[in-house]
Amino acid sequence: MSPTDSAGNPIPVTIPIDLAPGIKVVYTTRLGGVSQGDWGDCNYGGKGREDPGRVEANRIALAKELNADISLVSQVHSGIALDMDEHFVHNAPYGADLSGTIVSYDGPAARNASSDYAVASQQHRVADQHESGLRPAAETIEADAQVTTHTGLALGMFAADCMPVLLADPEHGVIGAAHCGRNGLLNGVIGSCVALMVRKGAQPQNIVATLGPRICADCYEVGGRIADDFDAHFPGSYCLTRFSGPGVDLVAAALQELADSGIPRDNVIDSRPRVAAATQYLREDEELIGLCLRDDEDSPLLSERIDKLRHPMCTFENPLWYSHRRSSRANKAHEGRMLGLIVRH
Ligand SMILES: [Zn+2]
Repeated sequence: MSPTDSAGNPIPVTIPIDLAPGIKVVYTTRLGGVSQGDWGDCNYGGKGREDPGRVEANRIALAKELNADISLVSQVHSGIALDMDEHFVHNAPYGADLSGTIVSYDGPAARNASSDYAVASQQHRVADQHESGLRPAAETIEADAQVTTHTGLALGMFAADCMPVLLADPEHGVIGAAHCGRNGLLNGVIGSCVALMVRKGAQPQNIVATLGPRICADCYEVGGRIADDFDAHFPGSYCLTRFSGPGVDLVAAALQELADSGIPRDNVIDSRPRVAAATQYLREDEELIGLCLRDDEDSPLLSERIDKLRHPMCTFENPLWYSHRRSSRANKAHEGRMLGLIVRH
């Protein structure tokens, strides 16, 4: 498929999963946007210095596809969870992350930026603010989890090897999202997210969760000391990678955190079958074939990359996702970010 429509607007390629009645999880891919070069085709992250007009155009198209506002935060691998019922309205239009917007890039003067997409983005934002009564974006807030009881508000966590974890208590109408890298997990980000959900009316035994795309234990090699320290916090998370060095299993750690937060193991829904099916579906996709041909991050042939794929959820292996490691190994100057999102309608 073409990444854009006939008017040049992005058509984000996403993988939706019904987590519970009325609650949807969505994983974005590298496909279907107006990003360029090292940023792939559909980067949503603003900290990688891509033209903010392009990032914003991708976000606007995604919001339209989700039929929801997108709430983002400035992620710093902390254990902090933010109540977006309190903060979102003060930080239009993307919650508490100002990176990747024209306003944040060079300050308000950049509203006349020369980006091809600047004008359209600005018009969209002004129209949105007019409709919703929101003030212009004002504040960046650092956090690594978000919670809301609102419908139509998609909580999005950026990732490129770190793992988004999406949670919901469908009965009490509370959703949450957490950004789980090694340090976020050590800082207790899942516990913080669940605790805030509970303060907002959720009950742990009702919470369903799913673990998003991440670098898998077979690929996530770290130094021995780091793996030992992580294992001391999360026993059993130490592993040997396919490169034969010590590694870290983010999934094992996240499952322990969910269990410690009172979430029954049976409530953790596996995203893998849907992602595996979508990956196979996209093996003939012209855009993905083209992206692999030019990204210099692995074999240029998509068919080869998919044939050797062992873990479709693994960001390092699956060319659908952005991967900080894959990008670094290819000596890229820049890299993009996907979003794992959850929304209640
Ligand atoms: Zn892997």
